[in-house]
Amino acid sequence: MTGNEFLYIILALTGLGFLIDQVIDYLNIKYLKEELPGELANIYEESKYQKSIQYQRANARFGFITSLMSFTASFGLLAFGGFGWIHRLLATYVTSTSWLPLVFFGALFITSDILTTPFQWYNTFRLEARYGFNKTTLRTFIFDKLKGYGLGVLLGGPLLALFIFLLNQMGKDFWWIFWLAMTAFSLFMNVFYSSLILPIFNKLTPLQDGNLKSSIEEYARKVDFPLTNILVMDGSRRSSKSNAFFSGFGKQKKVVLFDTLIEKHSTDELVSVLAHEVGHYKKQHILGGFLLSTVQTGLMLFLMQFIIFNEELSFALGGTEYAIHLNLIAFAILYGPISTILGLIGNYISRKNEYEADAYATRTFGGEPLQSALKKLSVHNLSNLMPHPWYVFFNFSHPPLLQRLKAIDRIQNL
Ligand SMILES: [Zn+2]
Repeated sequence: MTGNEFLYIILALTGLGFLIDQVIDYLNIKYLKEELPGELANIYEESKYQKSIQYQRANARFGFITSLMSFTASFGLLAFGGFGWIHRLLATYVTSTSWLPLVFFGALFITSDILTTPFQWYNTFRLEARYGFNKTTLRTFIFDKLKGYGLGVLLGGPLLALFIFLLNQMGKDFWWIFWLAMTAFSLFMNVFYSSLILPIFNKLTPLQDGNLKSSIEEYARKVDFPLTNILVMDGSRRSSKSNAFFSGFGKQKKVVLFDTLIEKHSTDELVSVLAHEVGHYKKQHILGGFLLSTVQTGLMLFLMQFIIFNEELSFALGGTEYAIHLNLIAFAILYGPISTILGLIGNYISRKNEYEADAYATRTFGGEPLQSALKKLSVHNLSNLMPHPWYVFFNFSHPPLLQRLKAIDRIQNL
């Protein structure tokens, strides 16, 4: 295939991806009902429901504007050979073929971050603030950015350098060597995320002695779940939205509860949320997720070897010579449809896992406190409780609330 033919495919995929996203977002927003639907009558109060509709619409508008901007920028750069132009510009200053790709991606990252920062600022300090969610100060916002840059340089930089090195030195064998390296890296990150990365952004403190802790310990003994690590995270530093999650394997495993979650829920509700997280662990969801992403990375690298050395890809992006970074961008777009399909499968599995974790919590602790916790969470977060089925299929990693409540009912009535 020639560079031009590749370019047409790349432009078509970029346009198609944008179009599909917009159609699904549009269907979802049209699906909102002005009047409080009967199914939600015992969940949302009228005024809260109206607020949730406004919040969904405001988010959809904002999402449309940001994706239109980024689509226009990338489509324009692709159509007019912009990436090739940037390559030539940088190549006059950086002659080393090992450094050029790093400088190229670094420059793209910084430029896109400068362009998107005003939107992130608007989202945090205007949109989220208008609905009472934002707790981030300007100081936290700026420090988050600086820490993100630091992590990008410390973790992303060496990984990218290793990848470029292997591509240049190992030929087609790069794929499995880098796959091994990536697997080791992501295993390390999975195990140590909550002890190494999370504390850079948040303060984690062990759950204090008291009614909640003793109730959790009692439950943990019952289900034989060794629990040494229940941490409270200062989620309130950024947002009033709340959450809980599980992290790590083996001895490093930890349950993290947001302080905002503890604030708003009863002891029974909190134990049921913890029971749900324990369910994820007992049902091997954490391990399953890790294996799935390892296989996906392997598949991507395996496919990459067939096309990544083809200079026509560089020509497609406006280059006049083979450049590995131009080829990588082209590959990322060509791989888009496969990545979308894998994402759909991943979301499907994740939704199934959520039902399993809910079922586990219902059987080992009780369905009612879990239902009540899930309702409170959704209402507080102004969630869209009746999303369009296609929107759920494409974007949801968790099933919508009503389906979860019904599934819990079914288990209770068994
Ligand atoms: Zn879950």
